[in-house]
Amino acid sequence: MEPIVATPTRGYPMPDNDPAPFRKLAARLRVPPDTRVELSKDYDPADTTDVKAKDADDLLRSGVELLAEYQARLAAQDRTALLVIIQAMDAAGKDGTISHVMSGVNPQGVEVTSFKVPTPHELDHDFLWRAAIALPGRGTIGIFNRSYYEETLVVRVHPSILDGERLPADVLGGDIWKRRFRHINHWEAYLADQGTRIVKLFLHVSKEEQKRRFLDRIDQPDKNWKFNAGDVRERGFWDEYQAAYADVLSETSTDAAPWYVIPADHKWFMRLAASAVIVDALVDIDPKYPEMDPAARADLLKAREELIAEPG
Ligand code: ATP
Ligand code: MG
Repeated sequence: MEPIVATPTRGYPMPDNDPAPFRKLAARLRVPPDTRVELSKDYDPADTTDVKAKDADDLLRSGVELLAEYQARLAAQDRTALLVIIQAMDAAGKDGTISHVMSGVNPQGVEVTSFKVPTPHELDHDFLWRAAIALPGRGTIGIFNRSYYEETLVVRVHPSILDGERLPADVLGGDIWKRRFRHINHWEAYLADQGTRIVKLFLHVSKEEQKRRFLDRIDQPDKNWKFNAGDVRERGFWDEYQAAYADVLSETSTDAAPWYVIPADHKWFMRLAASAVIVDALVDIDPKYPEMDPAARADLLKAREELIAEPG
């Protein structure tokens, strides 16, 4: 008699979780290629689109479930990698967003890399090197908490940092930032062509909200550890950073690696929007559980018979 073997029940269809609202939200937040972005004019950090705060918890839960489901399939298919880059001003909420959005995901399939001030060893190499060795492998999700974009942000706002990069004089001439944008665009296109899907999130917080969050970190003892006096000095360069971010968004949002501007003044919306972008990318990849070919299936059934026939 042909034994009854359970087939995987996870996977298609997922009747309760409709990805459509997430896809719509992601499309709305995407920066179209070749657009000149002016942050103060084009993007409101307090925007919540047409999503109601009262629906946010349910929607985020549904997003987290979708993410878990798609991540399982991404891993099983083992072909495409997903790279999520997160950039923001201090206290915009990178850490909280990562922990909320990825809360349902199997930790084995995700790796978060935080990019800090480069070490001497990292400075011995080109600026993409440390990112290259941290890229996610096939079937996995990599999250960059800051990234090589710092090389066109903090380094641009404080050009003296360039001196420490020990670049030869002949590669410092001309418009180094334009060249860095070009290198980044080429590199990301190459990665996309090799099977790495890239989405880039700019968590867009207002100057007033940043001040409120810094004050919270000072006033609430359990948040003191998050406070860094240097961040307040960096706030003095707010306009320079906003201009540098606008240039990054204008020059490096491409079809291969689009930027999404995530309004960050309302934490609930920021988390929902971030999950929408990641869900949208995964739905687009559409990973599927591999189908067993008849020979592999016959092997399974043979293994089953052996297990059943075990004595005892
Ligand atoms: P937190 O929210 O915990 O403060 P963080 O991302 O701000 O997280 P920090 O250790 O406080 O982490 O800061 C990292 C610092 O490293 C940032 O100020 C960032 O600008 C800086 N940094 C990252 N990459 C580079 C780079 N390539 N060159 C120079 N500075 C960099
Ligand atoms: Mg910091």
